[in-house]
Amino acid sequence: MNAFTDIVGHKNIINALKHAVKNGSTAHAYIFDGPVGVGKKSVAATFAKVLNCERGESEPCNRCKSCLTFDAGTNVNYYGITHEKKNITVGDIRTQINANVSYPPQNGKYKVFTVPDADLMNIEAQNALLKTLEEPPEYVVFLLICTNYKRLLHTIISRCMIYKFMPLASSDVINYAVENLKLGSESASLYARYASGSIGKLKSMTGSEEFSEIRSRAFNLFSNSETSDIVTVYSMAEDMKKYESNILNGVLDTFFSIVRDAIVYKQTGNIKYVMQSDMANEIKEISFRHELEGLFVIFDELYKVKKRLSANGDVALLTESLLMTIKENSK
Ligand SMILES: [Zn+2]
Repeated sequence: MNAFTDIVGHKNIINALKHAVKNGSTAHAYIFDGPVGVGKKSVAATFAKVLNCERGESEPCNRCKSCLTFDAGTNVNYYGITHEKKNITVGDIRTQINANVSYPPQNGKYKVFTVPDADLMNIEAQNALLKTLEEPPEYVVFLLICTNYKRLLHTIISRCMIYKFMPLASSDVINYAVENLKLGSESASLYARYASGSIGKLKSMTGSEEFSEIRSRAFNLFSNSETSDIVTVYSMAEDMKKYESNILNGVLDTFFSIVRDAIVYKQTGNIKYVMQSDMANEIKEISFRHELEGLFVIFDELYKVKKRLSANGDVALLTESLLMTIKENSK
């Protein structure tokens, strides 16, 4: 990431950070909280770079020794905390942070410590970090990156400046997909729909077989629920309960897109308004197999199932009722 201007979205947060750099009013510790893949790490990396940029402005110059070593991963004043176990342990904090905090930076203003997945610090690790946070040396800046900062101790949270990162606007994700990933505008909107405001998710989907596999699995499940006998539909629902949650969510999201497209096609009779134009034939067939009203019933049921699943509802029961609703509302 070369500059704040390269980052998609989060303009308010970026402006606040630039303002702090310009006025020399940076805090000792920040929490960047928000969903995976929306840009927290990019903002943190650019902020870390700009803090020690020798030009001393609110964007990194990308030419001074500090910026160049930062990009090469050899900047001596920058520490990206890593961990081997599932949790960040007290050993990780002691060896990578506490052991390096007491010496001032070499040829720079700040020592910057970034802790990705900071909410994975166990209690001992958090207490070890707290010791430094209570009386931080002038030159130290911590950037704690979290998906759920409420897992951190109150005593840590109260010492940090908190910035909450929201999912990106879908138009931002679409633009990114068109400009940076060179996708056509139709597939860009399709992927953006599944990426739910996360460029990280967008990138991993466009490069993965999994996304298209999940989609075709969802199309098969939907069509088979319409055309199979009841016993088969029950056994399909039984199968779905074994899905990992990301796959189940992908299938349900695809169901939403299928029903939405089938409704649009039913109402307009024109395939150009359908979002998943690569599946035009399948969408047409599905729309022929339902009355408009039936599609709305399925849409409502899907909405209900999604909501109940996120509240830890019984997967088997919910998928069963969903597939049965699809079947009952087919011609
Ligand atoms: Zn620089």
